[in-house]
Amino acid sequence: MKKSITYSLIFFSLLCSLNVLSQDWQTFYEKSNYLRTPRYNETVEYCERLDRASANISMINLGKSPQGRDIPMLIVDKDGLSNPELIRNKGRLVVLIQSCIHPGEPDGKDASLMLLRDIIIDKKQKGLLDKVSLLVIPIFNVDGHERFGAYNRINQNGPEEMGWRTNALNLNLNRDFLKAEAPEMKHWLKMYNTWLPDFFIDIHTTDGADYQYQLTYDIEKYGNLDSGISRWLNDIYETRLTKGMIDNGYLIFPYVQFRKWHDPRSGLRKGAASPLVSTGYAAAQNRPAVLVETHMLKDYKTRVSAAYALVVETLKILNHQSETVKTLISMADKSTESANFRKEPLPVSFTTSKSDSIMVDFKGFEYTTQKSDLTGGEWFKYDPTKPVIMRVPFFAKVKSEKTVKLPQFYIVPVEWTDVINKLQLHGVSMQELGKDSMILVTVTHFKDAEFSKEPNEGRHMVSVTTEERKELRLYREGSQIIPVNQRAAKIAAFLLEPTASGSLVEWGFFNAVFEQKEYSETYVMEPMAREMLANDPQLKKEFEETVKNNPEYNNQWTMLNWFYNRSKYSDLNYMVYPVGKVY
Ligand SMILES: [Zn+2]
Repeated sequence: MKKSITYSLIFFSLLCSLNVLSQDWQTFYEKSNYLRTPRYNETVEYCERLDRASANISMINLGKSPQGRDIPMLIVDKDGLSNPELIRNKGRLVVLIQSCIHPGEPDGKDASLMLLRDIIIDKKQKGLLDKVSLLVIPIFNVDGHERFGAYNRINQNGPEEMGWRTNALNLNLNRDFLKAEAPEMKHWLKMYNTWLPDFFIDIHTTDGADYQYQLTYDIEKYGNLDSGISRWLNDIYETRLTKGMIDNGYLIFPYVQFRKWHDPRSGLRKGAASPLVSTGYAAAQNRPAVLVETHMLKDYKTRVSAAYALVVETLKILNHQSETVKTLISMADKSTESANFRKEPLPVSFTTSKSDSIMVDFKGFEYTTQKSDLTGGEWFKYDPTKPVIMRVPFFAKVKSEKTVKLPQFYIVPVEWTDVINKLQLHGVSMQELGKDSMILVTVTHFKDAEFSKEPNEGRHMVSVTTEERKELRLYREGSQIIPVNQRAAKIAAFLLEPTASGSLVEWGFFNAVFEQKEYSETYVMEPMAREMLANDPQLKKEFEETVKNNPEYNNQWTMLNWFYNRSKYSDLNYMVYPVGKVY
């Protein structure tokens, strides 16, 4: 009897300690009854505990934010490896799970911390690390995360307080993937191009209309991603994910826009993801990705649980499909590297057809449209007690809007250091010009440039019209030759082709070339213009036509400047794109 009491006591105390142990590993979010999300310090502390507790986790920092915070990333591998090459040698896929690029939308952070605990400490979710290793960034935008408050997301149902959308410099990191201006993005790109993750999960919370789906998702299958990977996303990933989420009790749907603001019945629309944003960037790097958007009107617990389920289902699919995904990525890289790649025009912007649609069922809520007596506009009142299935048109026929002919090489002059640095951050390989060289290149001349009045991400965007001419140009030693036959060719083209959506020209990184820096005086140009006209009847005709067709030429300064720019004194670099091409 006594013995059995002793055993019972031991058993009881063991149970208690186990309970204490699992209590101890509860996340901040779980302890808050699923209502609150942890601050930066609490998140980092939890990650450090996981790192200390398990040989499977290695915690590193990507670099410092503008306000001096470290950006932590956890590397999770079943053998405790933390080196990309060693992990690849084991044949495992590398999956990047990122949260809080928009810290007002912290669902992914709380889902990831629970998932790490469940895999590593509680040994649940068995098998998720069999053929997959994880890179987990719980908070990417660490400074924005600490602009913490209850009033940061007006449309969103919890948590009680959250971070802010932009970084401390008021930049939206999810528009910075290509132009790479924010220090956080520069650190991220170094990491990304070291690891080249085989799959990228980027977790957000939506704004927009009310509907039944707890989560919407975006995968790139509209033209900006290699066709083999796109097909796999469409045929395998999307189908299995949808089924897996239904089995978990969640309704999911593609992340769509409504043709009319907030009005599901007006029709649904989708388009290709630009490389400015996470999924579009991964696509341009030949890597599949999913954008996760939990629905902002669902309570926080529902949203975090849905994000958790999506990550688990994705990891299950990837474990099962690891060989296929590896093969598809390798084929995509080989195809981009091949000499054939540049024979086809590369689409650099896309548009969705306004007329070509299919009918789909959309699980919405009944709503009424009200005419506002305050603003005169219309607004929508949704009734979440009345779920309905709407039969609506879905516009997802995407075609390329602009294409470019790829050269064999781009040449970036040595003095454009910032441009060269950005190309290197993106993993674009290049060869340095060993000595000053005159090279016959195709030069892009800007015929026209229009600057946006309002800033976008702190920059004034430029749209240009161009014409190309073959010219002999001097490139100084240290200039960089960018071959197009390389894995990162699409990224190089998106950055360097002036008319590409999100190019460095469009973002205004070459604005100085649109400025004229030398001018003629009237007492010099008036006689010289006469002389030029006398010597060149063709010029006279051209001048008269220009003045006739362009009202802005109806003044002396513009007319004389027209002659100056055609004289032998003109600036040969004015309105000329410094990056040359060799076809
Ligand atoms: Zn977001």
